[in-house]
Amino acid sequence: ESLSQIQSTDEKVKAFLHVGEEQAVEHAKQLDEQLQGAAQRGLLFGLPAGIKDNIVTQGMRTTCASRFLENYDPIYDASVVKKLKDAQAVAIGKLNLDEFAMGGSNENSAFQTTRNPWNLDYVPGGSSGGSAASVAAGQVYFSLGSDTGGSIRQPAAYCGVVGLKPTYGLVSRFGLVAFASSLDQIGPITKNVEDAAYVMQAIAGHDDRDSTSAHVDIPDYLSALSGDVKGLKIGVPKEYLGEGIDPQVKEAVLAALKVYEQMGAQWEEVSLPHTEYAVAAYYLLASSEASSNLARYDGVRYGIRSDQAENLMELYTKSRSEGFGPEVKRRIMLGTYALSSGYYDAYYLKAQKVRTLIKQDFDQVFEKYDVIMGPTAPTTAFKIGSQINDPLTMYLNDICTIPINLAGLPAISIPCGHVDGLPVGLQVIGKAFDEANVLRVAHAFE
Ligand code: GLN
Repeated sequence: ESLSQIQSTDEKVKAFLHVGEEQAVEHAKQLDEQLQGAAQRGLLFGLPAGIKDNIVTQGMRTTCASRFLENYDPIYDASVVKKLKDAQAVAIGKLNLDEFAMGGSNENSAFQTTRNPWNLDYVPGGSSGGSAASVAAGQVYFSLGSDTGGSIRQPAAYCGVVGLKPTYGLVSRFGLVAFASSLDQIGPITKNVEDAAYVMQAIAGHDDRDSTSAHVDIPDYLSALSGDVKGLKIGVPKEYLGEGIDPQVKEAVLAALKVYEQMGAQWEEVSLPHTEYAVAAYYLLASSEASSNLARYDGVRYGIRSDQAENLMELYTKSRSEGFGPEVKRRIMLGTYALSSGYYDAYYLKAQKVRTLIKQDFDQVFEKYDVIMGPTAPTTAFKIGSQINDPLTMYLNDICTIPINLAGLPAISIPCGHVDGLPVGLQVIGKAFDEANVLRVAHAFE
């Protein structure tokens, strides 16, 4: 069913970079055989899953939507992929993204622009645009994305599906191609909140292979879905409903808050005063970390190697010039500049200090409130081509998602209405490692 849906829709949606049809069918057959005589099915038995193409899969090409890795066949599975397989899910293929997860529209993919299934002239969001579009188009039951500054939640919002960015450290990043290591997290994109709880149950938990992986007990996310939000205290940051937020998006969010009120929750306006500095701090930190992480693409160890090089220095420079697209180059240059001696204190260190202030803003609100709510993105999806030549406008789309990564917190985006036929996302932000609560609150709305 999944393969035939891919076949009939992907020519238009263009979510997949690679469909591993043979492998998937073979795996499904094996699962059927194992089932004979087995006492119990795995938690995700037989469910077709799409994997963002910056998560490595053994025997399935992993490109990060970059020319640099167009020939890269990993020899191992990422820990999350292994965990999905342990739960008996079937990896169907690899989903499009902005090159190395840098972007918010999928237009930075070196290979194709995924389209929004609600309206094919619009972007699906990004960078996990393929992951969100694929679920929205009914091609897979769920997918995995990665979120550094909003890349799970913003495309989920644009495509009218559910996307959860877990607390930093809850889900292993072993086998996730690093973009900005102090921010990256893997999480599920699903049709509804219950499905997100299922996938989280399978992928959360400590992993020795990721040094940032937390030692925490994993609760039963499914039994947390009680439908009860009586007495819940919701903080709504005025900065997330102010300037730059589309009035109709704001209206949809306020209508959702009304629904929570009717279910017995209370909401009040709160302030996260350092929000206005988040985008600047993020683009300094993320680009700095990216410039360091992407130094490994040298034409020697991974991916393509320029055949124009006449010496070692040229091997590096020509392979990198040929392999990386314009947005990746922009970030490497920005990050290298911010880290250079003489500028480090003014940019990188300053951005780190702002990051601490942003985290403290959240700590203060969470002293009095159980969750924070607001829009996932300031607008609904935009037209393909309309922002690609304007990186600053593109960067500002992340204003409501970036602070959450800077603070390391969990947040989910769930659909809460439409504007002109395009979905709006409601974002529910929780305390660190309080995913069970975030899922419970989001589930109550459905
Ligand atoms: N849009 C943001 C960026 O371009 C977020 C990307 C992400 O979360 N991977 O950096």
